[in-house]
Amino acid sequence: MTSLFDLSGKRALVTGASKGIGLASARLLSQLGAQVTVSARGEADLVRAASEIGARAIVADVSHAAEIERLVQEAGEIDILVSNAGGPPTGLPSLVDDEGWQRGFELTFMSTVRLSRALVGGMRARGWGRVITITSLTVGRPSLGLPVSNALRAGVTNFARSLALEVARDGVTVNTVAPGYTATERLQEVFKSPEDAERVMSRIPAARFGSADEVASAVAYLSTAGAAYITGQEILVDGGWSI
Ligand code: NAD
Repeated sequence: MTSLFDLSGKRALVTGASKGIGLASARLLSQLGAQVTVSARGEADLVRAASEIGARAIVADVSHAAEIERLVQEAGEIDILVSNAGGPPTGLPSLVDDEGWQRGFELTFMSTVRLSRALVGGMRARGWGRVITITSLTVGRPSLGLPVSNALRAGVTNFARSLALEVARDGVTVNTVAPGYTATERLQEVFKSPEDAERVMSRIPAARFGSADEVASAVAYLSTAGAAYITGQEILVDGGWSI
């Protein structure tokens, strides 16, 4: 019997995959049998990540339309898209300027729109596909210093739900995975001091930060045949933060 969790024969593209949650997701999809293409901006880290997990590497900055166009062309047919990148600019809501918002929009919002728009047609034609976007706990509970993430990721979440409605009948599911505080390089950028980190940790019911592998587990599950009837949903991986 073929396992519901077996991804043999599936082709996955994971962006923002040279480190952190993207890399952990690519590694797990590969372990489940998928043929994985990883992408990120920096060539050295990406090539190292790709050779570690036995993936193909394509360098691309997903905040530019032309780079996404080249990426999807080089990647070829893709069954599982994991849309991920670094976090958008931070700052107090009253202080982020137009340039910060615009950069965040290209990186956090349009990257998902462009990647999924480019790949979903093939998925629908083949009658099977998975579109998974990494968002954030800030969708449900805004964080003071992350207004761009708070606002745009709420938009990405509803974009994903809209796309889910359009493609559900063609065997394609569209979901988001929202990490809570996860121990990666990004987390170090978010905290101003060790005291800041301790203060946040004391408010997490699980009393620890999550790991990139724990977020990747949700991505992998949504990628499998067993998750075929789950679409338009958000899975929070936050140690109970949002309860
Ligand atoms: P990370 O900084 O460890 O890794 C980010 C990856 O994205 C790297 O591979 C980087 O090279 C790549 N990247 C950055 N900008 C890119 C671009 N323009 N084009 C292509 N690739 C790009 O981050 P992470 O902790 O793994 O976070 C992944 C996502 O999850 C981020 O959007 C982050 O904001 C979000 N998130 C993280 C946490 C957390 O606690 N770590 C919590 C909530 C949400």
